[in-house]
Amino acid sequence: MSPVKTTCPYCGVGCGVLATPAGTPNATTDAARAATIAGDPDHPANRGKLCSKGTHLGETIGLEGRLLQPMIGAKIAEWPAALDLVARRFAAAIAEHGPDSVAFYASGQMLTEDYYVANKLMKGFIGTANIDTNSRLCMASAVAAHVRAFGEDIVPCSYDDLDTAELIILVGSNTAWCHPVIWQRIEAARAARGTKLVVIDPRATETARAADLHLAIAPDTDVALFNGLLTEAKARWRLDGRALAERVTVPDGFWPAIAVADVAATCEISADDLQAFVDLFLDNPRTVTLFSQGVNQSTSGTDKANAIINLHLATGRIGKPGAGPFSITGQPNAMGGREVGGLASMLAVHMGFSPEERDRAQRFWQSPTMCAGPGLKAVEMFEAMASGKIKAVWIMATNPVVSMPDRALARKALAICPFVVVSDCIAATDTGFYAQVRLPALAWGEKDGTVTNSERRVSRQRRFMAPPGEARADWWAVAAVAQRMGFAGFDYPDAASIFREFAAQTGFENNGTRVLDISDRATITDGEYAAMAPFQWGGASPFATGAYPTPDGKARMVAVRYQPRADGSRDFPLRLNTGRYRDQWHTMTRTGLSPKLSQHRPEPLVEVHSDNARRHGVVDGGLARVATEQGSSIFRVAVTPDQRLRDLFVPIHWTDQTSSEGRAGRLPGRDRDPLSGQPGFKNTPATIAPY
Ligand code: SF4
Repeated sequence: MSPVKTTCPYCGVGCGVLATPAGTPNATTDAARAATIAGDPDHPANRGKLCSKGTHLGETIGLEGRLLQPMIGAKIAEWPAALDLVARRFAAAIAEHGPDSVAFYASGQMLTEDYYVANKLMKGFIGTANIDTNSRLCMASAVAAHVRAFGEDIVPCSYDDLDTAELIILVGSNTAWCHPVIWQRIEAARAARGTKLVVIDPRATETARAADLHLAIAPDTDVALFNGLLTEAKARWRLDGRALAERVTVPDGFWPAIAVADVAATCEISADDLQAFVDLFLDNPRTVTLFSQGVNQSTSGTDKANAIINLHLATGRIGKPGAGPFSITGQPNAMGGREVGGLASMLAVHMGFSPEERDRAQRFWQSPTMCAGPGLKAVEMFEAMASGKIKAVWIMATNPVVSMPDRALARKALAICPFVVVSDCIAATDTGFYAQVRLPALAWGEKDGTVTNSERRVSRQRRFMAPPGEARADWWAVAAVAQRMGFAGFDYPDAASIFREFAAQTGFENNGTRVLDISDRATITDGEYAAMAPFQWGGASPFATGAYPTPDGKARMVAVRYQPRADGSRDFPLRLNTGRYRDQWHTMTRTGLSPKLSQHRPEPLVEVHSDNARRHGVVDGGLARVATEQGSSIFRVAVTPDQRLRDLFVPIHWTDQTSSEGRAGRLPGRDRDPLSGQPGFKNTPATIAPY
């Protein structure tokens, strides 16, 4: 067979993949489902490269562990019976308790078409904005910062900017492990052009060790660092006066007054290192600041992102080749979800909840009712469930019992909620345990639709294997329930028809007010959709003209101030950070199937500084219990100089299904950013003791 062009299902780099099935197209046995995987040389995101996870995709497409039939309780059911039950229970909850008594918890793993149908059902037909997504845990702070600064959720950079930058600053990102193909591109730019690299991260990761300068700042002190840099740029007359006068609104009382010496003390770095950073920044105007979860997963994540954006706006380092603040998403389609409106804080296609925008969406959807305003963000949704306010929830392509902070909350919420539906391609998940109905979903290689990567590039995920068993597309299940609830406008024959409707909505009464506009694709044929090449909405540099999608056309500086976090208590004097391993993805339901990927880090380790280890009596290679206010779990100890003195690090991947211990999911608390609602996963008061 000739290779099928598709897109990697893992991280937000969005690499193009050539999948060549080894068996017959409709094969459903494991052996016949094998495929050869290669990077797509024509895809602009990766130009033929893949990381270890993408390279080993072919080992992960078997049927082991798959959910292949609808389940009602412990019994196999037919699709019509399962869909009837879902529609009936949702309708009953709405009739008795109102539309806000139901909720939908979605995922950055879903395709844009799945997201579009779910968002339309909830916000336009059921009439609640209680649809949120695990992307809330991933990059919601960047979204909130973009909207504050630019008036719309726009990532202003492209990967090409990495090729032309003089200076790349990585903030809160272990790029070498978490976005490896971007890392390869950065390394190539450094080798070819001498691009300087600064890494800002409390941990000495593989990425940090390769940098020209590593600033191991104290956790959550980023705002002080970037405000200090801005103050220094202003003091040395290095701001872009023209950009500030013509393109940026600077509110009264904006300018932070923070002395460089105070910045070094706050961030717990040396004055020399800070000075070296200031000099590198001022000497290299073509700067890309790439930021990820270390910025976003914080109780001050939105302010951190705005501190970075402020710096770029004030120094004119945006809207030009090789310059800009660049949020890199974790999941393969967090961006697509943001585009359709799959966050409780957005309506649809980058619109908010003003009366005009609600009216516009209602007329486009021809819907009977509209949500009144923003809905419950992820943690709020589970809190509402735990307090009995949510009577029915549909969870799709995600495992919140593992991934939500305060695991006791997620368990209590799902145990109390009278009706839980879980759509997943995996049979045994920690969340599925609580479901009254489980619906079998398609997996990568079986799904058909689109995803959007971190640089706003839309690519096709294409089917190259037949759906196994009774597995069906997620959009199909949502549309089938919508129709059973009596709603018109959900009779989609295929993913192409949904994409066309989404594309049309981006242009509906847009009149140039929003950058997201792909309405030129609203009339593409099925054949054009099937053959659609990757494309980037907003162009390579959406702000190249200097105009922003705000009422006055100017970007907005946002006055942000560093707010120290309270120190941990005597019981929890340390700070727990969580993150990924290079060769695993989320809860390992797919990457765990590859023996090669499992060799890199076969067990979860708690990384601890040697002084800290000595003080707490734990030894390298021994076992230790890591505890927080929320719970505890046992890990093998790795004593390393890579950790700051008071910090611990554990990986996120292990679950109840894979291990009784080594469970990072038991540890983080519910503290979250007040604007974005994103939890502060990377700075939880903790302690460690020998086990
Ligand atoms: Fe997949 Fe990300 Fe690796 Fe690319 S960098 S192959 S998208 S996991």
